[in-house]
Amino acid sequence: MARRLHHDVVVIGGGSAGIATASSMLKRRPSLDIAIVEPSEDHFYQPGWTMAGGGVFKAPVTKRPMASVMPTRATWVREAAASFQPESNQVTLGDGTALTYDVLIVAPGIRLAWEKIEGLEQTLGKNGVTSNYRYDLAPYTWELVRNLKSGRAIFHQPPMPIKCAGAPQKAMYLSCDAWMERGVLNDIDVEFHNAGGVLFGVKEYVPALMDYVKKYGIDLRLNRTMVAVDGPARRATFETETGEDTVEFDMLHAVPPQVAPQFVADSPLANAESGFVDIDKFTLQHVRYSNVFGVGDAGSMPNAKTAAAARKQAPIVAVNALAVLDGQQPVADYDGYGSCPLTVERGRIVLAEFGYDGKLLPSFPKWVIDGTRPAKLSWLLKSEALPWIYWNGMLKGHEWLVTPQIKRAA
Ligand code: FAD
Repeated sequence: MARRLHHDVVVIGGGSAGIATASSMLKRRPSLDIAIVEPSEDHFYQPGWTMAGGGVFKAPVTKRPMASVMPTRATWVREAAASFQPESNQVTLGDGTALTYDVLIVAPGIRLAWEKIEGLEQTLGKNGVTSNYRYDLAPYTWELVRNLKSGRAIFHQPPMPIKCAGAPQKAMYLSCDAWMERGVLNDIDVEFHNAGGVLFGVKEYVPALMDYVKKYGIDLRLNRTMVAVDGPARRATFETETGEDTVEFDMLHAVPPQVAPQFVADSPLANAESGFVDIDKFTLQHVRYSNVFGVGDAGSMPNAKTAAAARKQAPIVAVNALAVLDGQQPVADYDGYGSCPLTVERGRIVLAEFGYDGKLLPSFPKWVIDGTRPAKLSWLLKSEALPWIYWNGMLKGHEWLVTPQIKRAA
């Protein structure tokens, strides 16, 4: 059967944000004709990769067939988007097909730029070099942690923006906890090399994290950006304020710099500075093309790039995009909410939840969960509740705790 070339709504990307937004729109308007452009056969729950790297989850629990998460009433276009022609309401796919739309929702995520660290790609998965930022490598993190008895373990955090800014240190704390449990932590020099100048960007969470840095004896090194890795020689080179510095390691947890997907950065939809989809940070509507929205990691807004943020953004984009389809203005605003459950030890989490300008936005009253302190309940949330909420709530258009507040009638 020939592929239909026009749809009411075209969504680019069937990740966390794209699927959640399409589901939220279909919940409100079941007859809507939505196409989701997504080349991957698999959908990933990436927040689970930290747990796979910490030996808590088996990696396969974080992966499901894309077909199983596609909303049944949406058309799945199994292709990659290649370019945008917003003046003619058109997207061109990798196979040359042109799709037209009334409303476009752009959600292809962020690109992991492994190539920006010289020598890294060819040594990933061997020579003690790993990263929880890849599904296939998270189990290797746990293998390295289990086998290391002494030596130097380096954890690196690249410059912002990255998705889940806390993930590089989550990997470190869970590794330290396992080494402490096994009684080998005293024989391992743990170093956190952070391109940034602070341990965590929202100051209220820093004291609790610093307690763990001290408890595990971590050597905290700020303003150090990894630029090269020599896997066979087990050496990593950092750019520092005083020049380059090369350090030997036995284990290296690397996190790549992250940038806008190239086809977005090259398009008329791009923000001139960052290359991400140039959208209003409140309405998530494109600043130049009113029938285009951005959602998730690909958006230019300055929130913490997390699935938790996408969970909050998706219903907002849904109601605003439906308003635009009806010839109205956007009706709801996003407050910048994002969440980062920092796994400081196996069984406890510092639950960072905040919005624009670092404003704390806790989901629970302080007497239930004080996000600035390590809590067992937050661990249960991350290990049990959130994966379930993701697969059965967020991806299915259930907007638990994130129903948008309509600021003006459409
Ligand atoms: P993604 O979920 O990455 O989806 C993007 C989709 O777009 C993919 O399916 C991709 O195949 C598709 N795509 C790419 N290019 C094209 C194209 N050209 N055409 C069409 N489709 C395309 N978040 C939290 O909330 N809590 C956490 O604890 C947490 N921990 C994390 C730990 C790690 C190690 C990592 C890697 C991430 C973590 N995150 C966490 C972040 C979270 O996973 C992302 O922020 C979230 O997945 C963003 O959703 P997205 O839809 O924007 O992008």
